[in-house]
Amino acid sequence: MTVIGVDDTDSRTGGMCTTYVAHSIAEELRRRGADVDRVLLVRLNPGVEHKTRGNAALAIHVDVDPRVAYEVATSVVSDLAIADDDKTNPGVVVAFPDPDVVPEAVAEFAERTVTEILDPGEAISLTDAHGFETATWGNGRGLVGALAAVGAWRAFDDWTFEHIAYREADRWGSGRDVDEASAFAAADDEYPAVWDTVDRGENEVVCVPRTPCPILFGVRGDDADACRRVADAVESEPVAESRTFVTNQGTDVHLTELDSGWAFDENRTYRLSGVVTGEPETRRGGHVFVPFVPGEPEKEWPRSAPTVELAAFEPTKRFRDRVRDLRPGDELTVCGEFSNGSLKLEKFRVDDLVTTTEETPECSKCGRRMKSAGADQGYRCRDCGTSAPGKVEVAVDRELEPGWYEVPPRARRHVAKPLIRGGFDAPTHPER
Ligand code: ZN
Repeated sequence: MTVIGVDDTDSRTGGMCTTYVAHSIAEELRRRGADVDRVLLVRLNPGVEHKTRGNAALAIHVDVDPRVAYEVATSVVSDLAIADDDKTNPGVVVAFPDPDVVPEAVAEFAERTVTEILDPGEAISLTDAHGFETATWGNGRGLVGALAAVGAWRAFDDWTFEHIAYREADRWGSGRDVDEASAFAAADDEYPAVWDTVDRGENEVVCVPRTPCPILFGVRGDDADACRRVADAVESEPVAESRTFVTNQGTDVHLTELDSGWAFDENRTYRLSGVVTGEPETRRGGHVFVPFVPGEPEKEWPRSAPTVELAAFEPTKRFRDRVRDLRPGDELTVCGEFSNGSLKLEKFRVDDLVTTTEETPECSKCGRRMKSAGADQGYRCRDCGTSAPGKVEVAVDRELEPGWYEVPPRARRHVAKPLIRGGFDAPTHPER
């Protein structure tokens, strides 16, 4: 078996997409008589999505002579990659052990690419050490993802599917014609085996991209056949080509633990527990923030832990209401990317809710709020002469319940695991 890794052939402005390049390599190899086992769509660190759109790398597992694989892969990348965009720096790696027995070091490299930002120099050392064939264009940045894609099959064990339909080439860059009602109906028929096709809360189709790339739509889920049934049922402009990719989308493989020094790295995505330390605040643009101190529940909150802000940005829509429902003292476990002092929330688990609050007592005769009777003097009602020794504890109504809350499908990052997939450690409140 030969493994071909490809990365960074898409362009923000030029409109190519690495999935289409990998699909084209697989098709050309098939035309030459090779058996293509599968094509992996591997999402790398989502914290660098601003640099490489979607930050996807691809691997083709194919039964073919590595020399043929190299020739086909490099010629397809040369033809299709948008080479005049200096932010597009394609890389190709051809390796020939079976994908599940690639060297341990290559699998570890793949694991690290979903949480860190790695250096092309390290990729070059590894490919040299293991005798993999490589090709790069531009500054060679794409070698990192290409090698990660080669190691991915051994590195990860949770896999989902995406069935991608591609447009006819003469329509690339123009508005897409997809019947929204048919997408909603098809998504309903196969939910929850198929997820994140639409956002029912916002009444939005989310499987259709807005970029000028060749993708018409992509249907994601846990069942490849169900994804294809949804794709078949969507009424749209002609589908030129299609392929079902095996992916690490929706698996939370990007989450890391915070180290004991409480030091956050920029653009890493963490899962950590802590306590809410202030009231939620809605700021300009509709973004919601709430202060939070990391620490282990059941232990004292470490004084050295820095306060971070949990952030729910405007595009997370109704998820912001869940964040606005938080109160000081609530204990949470949160998942989010650290950037500029904030954790951009993907989901959070309610571990313990504050259910009482201290209030100034009400007068038992007139029902009005009592006034302070002076320092340490308690409270009293001047009109009625009633008094109370101190504040009283009253129950607070909480909308939140224990368990996991998440951003809606429209705001989901590719690699973030939707609650509907199950396997969580607490009750879930899935968005659909
Ligand atoms: Zn009174």
